[in-house]
Amino acid sequence: MERSAQARGDRTVRARRRMVERIAKGGVRCERVLRALDTVPRHLLLPEALDHRAYEISSLPIGEGQTISSPDIVAAMTEALQLMGDETVLEIGTGSAYQAAVLSKLAARVVSIERVPLLATRARSALDKLGVSNVVVHLGDGTRGRPADGPYDAIIVTAGGHEVPQPLIDQLAPGGRLVGPFGSRDTQQLVRITRGEQGALKREELGVCLFVPLVGEHGWDAK
Ligand code: SAH
Repeated sequence: MERSAQARGDRTVRARRRMVERIAKGGVRCERVLRALDTVPRHLLLPEALDHRAYEISSLPIGEGQTISSPDIVAAMTEALQLMGDETVLEIGTGSAYQAAVLSKLAARVVSIERVPLLATRARSALDKLGVSNVVVHLGDGTRGRPADGPYDAIIVTAGGHEVPQPLIDQLAPGGRLVGPFGSRDTQQLVRITRGEQGALKREELGVCLFVPLVGEHGWDAK
């Protein structure tokens, strides 16, 4: 490797490590999650003009009016899913594919749905370039879920809805966890729904957050 490229690579690795340290200090304890964040090159999932900001604790624009979620939120939501490694995970809102790439390190299979065609296309080629082979990106309205590949051990919704879409609850396997932001368009609660082995549902609120809107049949109207 040319020397300046080598130096740039080292800087990237250091910046990413600092990002992970800050996220750990912020309260994310799960070593598996922190390790996954340390291995996903977030700078390769951003528009080039922003790649120098890739390891800031911040959401950033990715085009089409959408954002890549802040890495601390990605970490907290991923931790809340309590993945062991053998799960099938459904993600609603592929966006940049950063969250999907993190999940790919922690679960067996990820099914991700994006409603904006250009973002779905870009996400597929970005995941290809990273060599991620256990994520499939589908174009469509994720508020309906994807029964054909379910039920799911874990479901993550990465856009803010008014309520947890019923089809997603219905596609949650016994013992499964669903995590996502629900509330108004301006502010949401991060909610975790757990389905007990006998089918009973438990709902927890994990904190306040702000996401781009979940738009679809069981979400907000497009505007
Ligand atoms: N997980 C993404 C977050 C992107 S922002 C990341 O790591 O970058 C949320 C994404 O959800 C946007 O790309 C938006 O287009 C998408 N979205 C909103 N409503 C949706 C729906 N009903 N189905 C699928 N995707 C949706």
